[in-house]
Amino acid sequence: MSNKVKILINNMSVEIDNDLTILEAARLLNIDIPTFCHDDRLNPTGSCRMCVVEVEGARNLMTACSTKVRDGMVVRTNTKNVVETRKGILELMWANHPNECLVCEKSGECKLQDYSYQYNVNPDSIFKPLNSRDFIDNSNEFYTFDSRKCILCGKCVQICSELQMTSAIGFDERGIDTHIKIKQHDDSIDGVIDLYKCVSCGNCVNNCPVGALMPKTKDKYRNWEVDKIKTTCPYCGVGCQFNLVVKDNKVVRVEPVKGGTNDGLLCVKGSFGYKFINHPDRLKQPLIKKDGVFVESTWEEAMDLIVKKINETKAKHGPNAFSGLSSAKCTNEENYLMQKLVRAGFGTNNVDHCARLCHASTVAGLATTLGSGAMTNSISEIGGTDTFLVIGSNTTETHPVIGVMIKQRVKKGAKLIVADPRKIELANMANVHLQIKPGTNVALANGLMNVIYNEGLYDKEFINKNTNNLEDLLEVIKEYTPEKAAEICGVSKEDIVKAARLYASADRAAIYYAMGITQHSSGTNHVKSMANLALMTGNVGKESTGINPLRGQNNVQGACDMGALPDVLPGYQKVFDDAVAKKYEKAWGVSLSREVGHTLPIMMNEASSQDIKFMYIMGENPVVSDPDTNHIKKALTNLDFLVVQDIFLTQTAEFADVVLPAASYAEKDGTFTNTERRVQRIRKAVTIKGNARSDWEILSELLTRLGLEANYNNAEDIFKEMASLTPIYAGLDYDRIDDNGMQWPCPTSNHPGTKYLYKDGFTKLGKAIFTPIEHLGPQELPDSEYPLILTTGRTLYHFHTKTMTDRVEGLKATVPDNFIQVSPDTAKQYQLKHNEFITVSSRRGSSVAKVQITDTIDDGVVFMPFHFADGANMLTNPALDDICNIPEFKVCAVKVNKC
Ligand code: SF4
Repeated sequence: MSNKVKILINNMSVEIDNDLTILEAARLLNIDIPTFCHDDRLNPTGSCRMCVVEVEGARNLMTACSTKVRDGMVVRTNTKNVVETRKGILELMWANHPNECLVCEKSGECKLQDYSYQYNVNPDSIFKPLNSRDFIDNSNEFYTFDSRKCILCGKCVQICSELQMTSAIGFDERGIDTHIKIKQHDDSIDGVIDLYKCVSCGNCVNNCPVGALMPKTKDKYRNWEVDKIKTTCPYCGVGCQFNLVVKDNKVVRVEPVKGGTNDGLLCVKGSFGYKFINHPDRLKQPLIKKDGVFVESTWEEAMDLIVKKINETKAKHGPNAFSGLSSAKCTNEENYLMQKLVRAGFGTNNVDHCARLCHASTVAGLATTLGSGAMTNSISEIGGTDTFLVIGSNTTETHPVIGVMIKQRVKKGAKLIVADPRKIELANMANVHLQIKPGTNVALANGLMNVIYNEGLYDKEFINKNTNNLEDLLEVIKEYTPEKAAEICGVSKEDIVKAARLYASADRAAIYYAMGITQHSSGTNHVKSMANLALMTGNVGKESTGINPLRGQNNVQGACDMGALPDVLPGYQKVFDDAVAKKYEKAWGVSLSREVGHTLPIMMNEASSQDIKFMYIMGENPVVSDPDTNHIKKALTNLDFLVVQDIFLTQTAEFADVVLPAASYAEKDGTFTNTERRVQRIRKAVTIKGNARSDWEILSELLTRLGLEANYNNAEDIFKEMASLTPIYAGLDYDRIDDNGMQWPCPTSNHPGTKYLYKDGFTKLGKAIFTPIEHLGPQELPDSEYPLILTTGRTLYHFHTKTMTDRVEGLKATVPDNFIQVSPDTAKQYQLKHNEFITVSSRRGSSVAKVQITDTIDDGVVFMPFHFADGANMLTNPALDDICNIPEFKVCAVKVNKC
């Protein structure tokens, strides 16, 4: 309990809580106290001692950042003693610091430089004894550590251990030899996160107060030469906020923004993954394929050809011969226009995007059990969760900043259950790691519920008030005793019991899941099982609880929200709802189909069989991202006409008849919606390369050429039209979301947005629905010919099909090759050597991969990342979930052979 106290600083009085520090009190009075090591997010240590102040009655000077206020305290921040002491501290720092301000990249934003100027310290007049801090560690791909410039304030050590939770940085040696040491990632095991070794997040670099930790960059700039434009990270669905630092129309650095979604933290891709923007491979001119070769064309020529082909195809084959793939990497505005083009311009609902491949089962599973297919709670609520169940999510690699937040909370005492076929990084700090066989999530959930119900740990009051269908669920789960579930899942029954008790006994328990749950031929049922578990324990509709699907790409949530799906218009309004269709018909001035369109896998089947003739792909790369690559290549080859719109000539674009060059996220305005339903701005920081255009500009022109109304002057005009037709976005506009974004549903202009769903119950469905689900298992299991189970996923250092990360030197160098993880016993059985290249084959194709022998994976199970062309998806099984058509990426049978 904090009480108010009154203190006097420099004769000014302030009344504040007694749990605050002198530094915080001084800031309330606008009194500046210098610090090197302080950061509001860290435990104050006073280690740099620069913030010393005089406290009446105290024998020594006190550090303002670590001294708590008390009633009647009298503080002086600017006495002669204080000033001389700070000056002495600066002189000591200069004794070990080279006088290189003239050539130092940090010049202009260096605290040592600023304070030396402020306190009249002249580095040239200071004696410099020899010391051991004379090395430069250049071994990291992304940053340099110059020990000569280090002032030993320890901020990087704290950032790494308290915020990033990696603890790769520490002090080494003693006394005059003390220096900072960074445990670097071991390149010999690329793709595997080493505990306590640097993950190159850059959070230390972004917070170093001097020039000791600096990004490796070829772009020189001074602080006063640059503009800083706040925007949203283009990689994963966390939606981290950062500034693009721009000099001469070029992005030269990224700086995180404190507060908001990520509160100043970034991962390696956010901090250093921006260099693709200026990569020479960027498409700058439309291309038309002539005699099998791409030839540069004008926009006029390319657009004329596309419109001609659209008209010809429509006349000859009708609207169902068209399909369009929208993009989870593009903005909401662009996704809105893409589905408008397909629906209003082509006349079909054959529009989809890669959410089909990652969270289609979430949208289907949660919408039918709870009412809405999105993350129920917010990222900031992680700080209040008592127990986490992280299942099928390698969070620290796929959603690194959320992974870090979970680690922070667990360090503070929250419990952690991890269910994953691999011993992922989070498993190392878990109370229970259930190393389940791939594809056994339903059996595990049923086993957990069996224990929870039989031990009376369920929330009877919540169930009675909020749910239907418990009896049917109980009929099924009674069969899933811990023994039976343990046998199916390949874990111990004791661990299932322990996990059930941990999850059910918490005040606030939250489930976090990703594609380990969704990418199965029964994926919708896996998602519904998660809903069952949360509902049984009353962990929905409360802060810091919920069912939280972590959406993979930067705007996959937004692309779904915008109706880039074959069954819904924007805001999940059904295409067959006549009132909804009429609303859009009135707004767009055309009649619309009420027939549900084809999902992405069915479109590919239809293209393969030549029933679909024309495909328009915006910012997607199905040749790498979709299962069974050979099938996808055949489908694209069989099309009459393919348009691909992208920033690079992707593996998919190679199959196109026309390629349209698009703008990157740094070159346009718009919005992305992150995994917690937060609609955030992206802002144009640099001009578009060559003759490329924003996706929304390209689509607007095409709509106009097809005779449709598309008079948009900017992205905001599109947002306004979309919001006027989309109830969950109706209360949002660019002004309201400008600062920190806002979370849908936000139905009116005075609605504050929705931090967590179902606070007032399950209003859409009346009550939430328990779904009885039997364990079915994967459709393809190992046999004598293909004896191993392949499971797939992502790595920290790449994103999706690598179109961007392959054009960032450090990321490419860190994980250069396709790899396969095998256990030591599996390696022995097949005589595989670490780092050798082998051939991995399934019934659908073969791939070459570098062997990593690791004890993080079970015997008989192997893992490959899905980022590489001719990699994992040459092998994966295209078997589909009947309900939502998500393919079974997570399990197929393979064999390994020497190359
Ligand atoms: Fe970008 Fe995701 Fe990393 Fe944040 S966690 S910096 S959004 S890739």
